Amino acid sequence: MRLLLTVLLAAAALQAPAQSLALVGAKVYPSPQAAPIENATVLVRDGVIARVGSGLEVPAGYRVVDARGDVVVAGFWNSHVHLLPEPYRGAATRPAATLAQALEANFTRWGFTTVFDTASLPGDALALRARIDRGDVAGPQILTVDAPFFPAGGTPIYIKDLLERLKVPSFEVADAAQARERASRQLEAGADGVKVFAGAIVGGAVGVLPMDVSIARAVVDTAHARGKPAFAHPSDLAGLQVAIDSGVDVLAHTTTNGMPGPDALVRTVVDRRMALIPTLMLIEVEVRNEGLPPRAGDAMLAAASQQLKAFHAAGGQVLFGTDAGYIDVYDPTREYRLMAAAGLDWRAILASLTTAPSERFGQAARRGRVAEGMAADLVVLRGDPAVDIDALDRVRMTLRGGRVLYDAGTAPAASTR
Ligand SMILES: [Zn+2]
Repeated sequence: MRLLLTVLLAAAALQAPAQSLALVGAKVYPSPQAAPIENATVLVRDGVIARVGSGLEVPAGYRVVDARGDVVVAGFWNSHVHLLPEPYRGAATRPAATLAQALEANFTRWGFTTVFDTASLPGDALALRARIDRGDVAGPQILTVDAPFFPAGGTPIYIKDLLERLKVPSFEVADAAQARERASRQLEAGADGVKVFAGAIVGGAVGVLPMDVSIARAVVDTAHARGKPAFAHPSDLAGLQVAIDSGVDVLAHTTTNGMPGPDALVRTVVDRRMALIPTLMLIEVEVRNEGLPPRAGDAMLAAASQQLKAFHAAGGQVLFGTDAGYIDVYDPTREYRLMAAAGLDWRAILASLTTAPSERFGQAARRGRVAEGMAADLVVLRGDPAVDIDALDRVRMTLRGGRVLYDAGTAPAASTR
């Protein structure tokens, strides 16, 4: 009986149509490069954008949101998060409200309608996604690499204690066959990509341990055979070389250990059409948390910013990402400011949040722009990022598939942290 009830409730949630909704009077940026539509109406029906334009009539039965003075852009992607904090562990059996609150506070409250989990505990992200997809938990679109791949003896120093405490099986792989086997298994189970620690920060005398190229290649090839992307954590120049040689698609960070000149990064990485996730504010958070001298942080940040600047100037594809969930800072404002300081204008930053990840991860036909027929993944901003980059952070509403996941007007104060 209980099972039957669960099935019926799940079916009801699945079938509940997203409300027809009209955002009226907003300034709409259809894409980062397009001219804005002033005084626009966005009609959302059945989870998609039915119409966009100025002076549209709102059909009967629509919920009207007065968006005069607001700016509407496509839903944001955070392409580097970790569903690793406590609320997400054992996501299959956590109370729905606990998960929904965490997802709102961590992601949708900041406009993120899609997050790419670039490593978490085995199965958690897939379980959470399944609950979101069947309507049990309100949340963003979740993509995941599931468990990461570490070199043998290369469990990173900053995660070692946690993994031991949780008694999680090792993520280290000894050889290519083992790597291929686990990568296949994870992808078969629903993972959307793989992540290799091309350079694993193990500390001590070794510092950064590079992954054997044949192992990295086995993981990457297994993903590519299924049309899925491979991420890498490069850490230093040797790790970057492993990432390049193994055919990785996305660098999950800049390379601050060893600080390679930007030329090395630009020449190879842009030519190979690899994307870069800068995660600049991570450096500041780490320096603060580790109690390192601020000057050390300044030098690393300067190197990372210089890499981003050169990579962007050379036409490289930048994806927005913060490492949220590894760091406990979820507000992305600082990242926007650091990217702007590195020379990316608001259009480039908006592209890193919308069109670039949609293209990179094969969803450009459905997401990334505000246009008719696209999924109604939308952010309503109280301000214009063309005028002030901080406006990207002044989120009034977040919609995913036409459902309001966050509304600053009704959200409890606790969720605005
Ligand atoms: Zn990370």
